Amino acid sequence: MKQIQAKILSNRQLQGDYFQLDMCAPEIAQEALPGQFVHVQIPDLEHRVLRRPFSIYDTDPATGRLSLVYKTVGEGTRKLCTIPSDGSLNVIGPNGKGFTIPVDGQKAILVAGGFGCAATFLLAKLATFKPIVLIGGRSKIDILLQKEYTALGCDLRISTDDGSLGHHGLVTDLLREALAEFPNAAVAACGPNPMLKAVAAIAPTAEISLDQPMCCGVGACFACVVKLKADTPDGWRYARSCMEGPVFNATQVWW
Ligand SMILES: Cc1cc2nc3c(=O)[nH]c(=O)nc-3n(C[C@H](O)[C@H](O)[C@H](O)COP(=O)(O)OP(=O)(O)OC[C@H]3O[C@@H](n4cnc5c(N)ncnc54)[C@H](O)[C@@H]3O)c2cc1C
Repeated sequence: MKQIQAKILSNRQLQGDYFQLDMCAPEIAQEALPGQFVHVQIPDLEHRVLRRPFSIYDTDPATGRLSLVYKTVGEGTRKLCTIPSDGSLNVIGPNGKGFTIPVDGQKAILVAGGFGCAATFLLAKLATFKPIVLIGGRSKIDILLQKEYTALGCDLRISTDDGSLGHHGLVTDLLREALAEFPNAAVAACGPNPMLKAVAAIAPTAEISLDQPMCCGVGACFACVVKLKADTPDGWRYARSCMEGPVFNATQVWW
């Protein structure tokens, strides 16, 4: 884990409330694994000192490029999208424990809700046997990175709650269908908690990335704890999502 001042290469709107930020961060890009995240200091938020966590979407270790995809939801992300392309950001990473990369020849099904498709992209990139990628969103405007996943050779399937693109319904409908085709596939997922809970019910061996709100991001403050089933007298324990996660085995989580 490194703390660096990263030069921004580009910070541009993808669609709707979604943006892509590319920065030069070779120390992090060369070490990043699928599902890990960076913790970003947002400049000029004097009254709010906490960093904001974002999944590492893509890297180019050769050039040192590190890319994030983010949605503007509050003060920090609204500030982030105004940072000019010649600026810089203080970034800590790569943080946390990511997804298991499928072994050669193993079929994987990646399930993403909204900006969750940023967290699963490196996994699709590194898998030798290209996965089925299921991306769900409320509406067409929430479906991101279609071209990028298709360019990797993934079998991309889309769902929207309002039927404006792809299957009219939930992404978990697509998961049931994909698992009927490939019952032994490894499943990895990132998205809102209700989606992850539904994925866990359908695919108990799935790996899921939890977007647990966090403060320090480096294991010191215990603000991001997740309740896990455990071999303790009470049958559970707390785990720091920033250190033991954000990726957990679905069976481990005490929903
Ligand atoms: C490990 C991890 C990876 C993440 N990866 C991404 C990513 O790749 N792209 C992306 O856009 N966002 C990602 N997030 C969520 C992102 O960190 C928050 O959206 C961001 O911190 C909000 O900051 P803000 O100041 O704009 O919003 P705030 O003013 O802090 O909050 C505004 C709204 O956002 C909600 N919010 C805050 N934190 C989260 C969270 N962790 N998850 C969901 N909603 C939240 C709040 O409940 C509130 O409704 C990730 C979070 C974690 C923990």
